[in-house]
Amino acid sequence: MHFELNEETRGILETARRFVENEVQPRIREEGFKRDFVSKMGQLGFFGCAFPPRFGGSDSGFLAHSVVCEEVSRGDSGLRSLFNLQGMTVPYTIMEWGTQAVREKYVRDLVLGNKLGCTCFSEPNAGSDLASMETRIEDRGDCIAVNGAKTWISNGTVADYAVVYGSYDRSLKHRGLCAVVVETDQPGWKARETPKLGDKSSPIAEIHMEDVRVPKENLLGAWGQGFTVAMTALDRGRISVASGAVGLAQACLDASVAYAYQRVQFGRPIREYQQVKALIAEMVAQIDAARLLVRRASWLNDQGAPFTREIAIAKYFAGETVVRAAGIAMEIHGGMGYSLEMPVEKYYRDSKLYQIAEGTVNIMRLLIGDDELGIKKANRPRLHVPAEFRGLE
Ligand SMILES: Cc1cc2nc3c(=O)[nH]c(=O)nc-3n(C[C@H](O)[C@H](O)[C@H](O)COP(=O)(O)OP(=O)(O)OC[C@H]3O[C@@H](n4cnc5c(N)ncnc54)[C@H](O)[C@@H]3O)c2cc1C
Repeated sequence: MHFELNEETRGILETARRFVENEVQPRIREEGFKRDFVSKMGQLGFFGCAFPPRFGGSDSGFLAHSVVCEEVSRGDSGLRSLFNLQGMTVPYTIMEWGTQAVREKYVRDLVLGNKLGCTCFSEPNAGSDLASMETRIEDRGDCIAVNGAKTWISNGTVADYAVVYGSYDRSLKHRGLCAVVVETDQPGWKARETPKLGDKSSPIAEIHMEDVRVPKENLLGAWGQGFTVAMTALDRGRISVASGAVGLAQACLDASVAYAYQRVQFGRPIREYQQVKALIAEMVAQIDAARLLVRRASWLNDQGAPFTREIAIAKYFAGETVVRAAGIAMEIHGGMGYSLEMPVEKYYRDSKLYQIAEGTVNIMRLLIGDDELGIKKANRPRLHVPAEFRGLE
């Protein structure tokens, strides 16, 4: 693994930095979904790093995806979820598990930001325990029918296409799961926005599906292969989530350094106090470590190597890092940390999701602990590797 980013990745990183400065920062206090940002980010190639040109991408890889996602999250963590939905858990899952016809139909428009995607795993009674999903996916002969409810669906109110997981036979537990691509304009699809703590530019929804019809070719993988599809999608999604955590943690550090220069107490800028320096040093060390872990996992994925263990470690560590960094930033800002005038109260609210989404802290610990203790190996050979899709005609 090289620690230097290549020229292509440095180029897209610079583009992301300019986009954040010129477009995101001026509208940072504007809450709500910004459709124009999705189109812009799609056109700038932000979602397409891992995709071949034919599907709207640049073939620059998962490490590049991670770097760009980090930079945008540094500007607004709420935009981070788009990297997942427009880049990983929706279009990449379709690339990996869909037929060529299904890829042709959906992937390019998602990657370019022309259409919006969402991923539906979570349900009122099935969060960490995905195998207990109650949504029913049935073969009706001429089509597939989907019935059930989903919660916490990012982009749920705005998505055109959804990757929906459910079971065709609950007695089979995880072996009964399936994944299908649903077009959300079908009769029976209802979405209602869920109010939440942070990430205000990323809408979250509760979804109800009543006899939603899906063409049979929209099944991803085979009947009963949905759990494997979900696990590969989660690995990719964890790259976006962990990268977003690093970006937001960096924003906390940047704000803290600036404030430590500006704020004077007892006749000296607070940066001169050793306890403030120690807090800054703690942030720097943890962010550096988190970034290296995320980049190692992304790089392994680029090599076609298994990376489930490494991305779980990265996601766990980055999630803990960002929550700690947001807390430290609040501390360094004193009363101003609590004020709506400064960005750190937003960082504090936004940080918490990184310990929850795409697998909670406990689930990451479980995966890492089981692997280390030899109870369940995390890294297994993959059915598909990125090289298969490179240069796909
Ligand atoms: C902002 C945000 C965006 C989200 N976006 C999406 C999305 O787009 N699509 C989607 O499908 N979902 C999404 N989610 C849902 C998210 O994936 C779930 O919240 C998460 O998987 C946890 O599930 P849960 O909330 O049901 O918690 P639960 O699974 O009920 O967990 C509750 C607590 O119990 C602990 N726990 C559970 N099982 C174990 C165990 N075996 N061992 C130890 N501890 C355990 C958990 O760690 C947690 O602390 C999103 C959530 C948030 C907050």
